[in-house]
Amino acid sequence: MAEKPEPFRVLYCGVCTLPAEYCEFGPDFEKCKPWLIQNAPDVYPDLIQEANSKEADKVSEQLQSVGISSDGTAPPPSSANSGTSTTKKEEVKRLPGGKIKKKDKQEVVIEKVVRNKRKCVTIVKGLELFGIKLSDASKKLGKKFATGASVVKGPTEKEQIDVQGDIAYDIVEFITTTWPDVPETAIYFIEDGRKVPAA
Ligand SMILES: [Zn+2]
Repeated sequence: MAEKPEPFRVLYCGVCTLPAEYCEFGPDFEKCKPWLIQNAPDVYPDLIQEANSKEADKVSEQLQSVGISSDGTAPPPSSANSGTSTTKKEEVKRLPGGKIKKKDKQEVVIEKVVRNKRKCVTIVKGLELFGIKLSDASKKLGKKFATGASVVKGPTEKEQIDVQGDIAYDIVEFITTTWPDVPETAIYFIEDGRKVPAA
């Protein structure tokens, strides 16, 4: 730079007219600062740092105000944003083990099994999913079909109702009449290992 002052030359401040190195003792050092930064950077090196840090503050403020993070990366486009939120929702559903929590499907499953050779039992599963108290349902079923009915724990530790005897084909009407919240379309039979809709 041609204007860079030589060490031996006295540089006079363009603002206060004092020699540049006396500016800080002059009447208005603040006003001198911009001129000094421009014309006598060697005399007051601190000024440049000061100015730079102020400038940096300003820049980071501007970056923040437009939503750009300080590391300079632009915010993702809105399409990516919605994708991110979808991912978050999916993560919420995931249990710690990585399993996806699935809400139990509201359905009643009726299965007829033959135990102890010719003794038939009708198993009713899923009434609790409709807010029905199983002990209450068990009593009603036993009374209706004049047989033994009890709440027992099934193989998966889920409670079910075991009704003695083959009542499978009478039970659907009884369920839908007794508990109108259970639609016939939500009732299934297990026949030969296959799930068959009752409706
Ligand atoms: Zn000055």
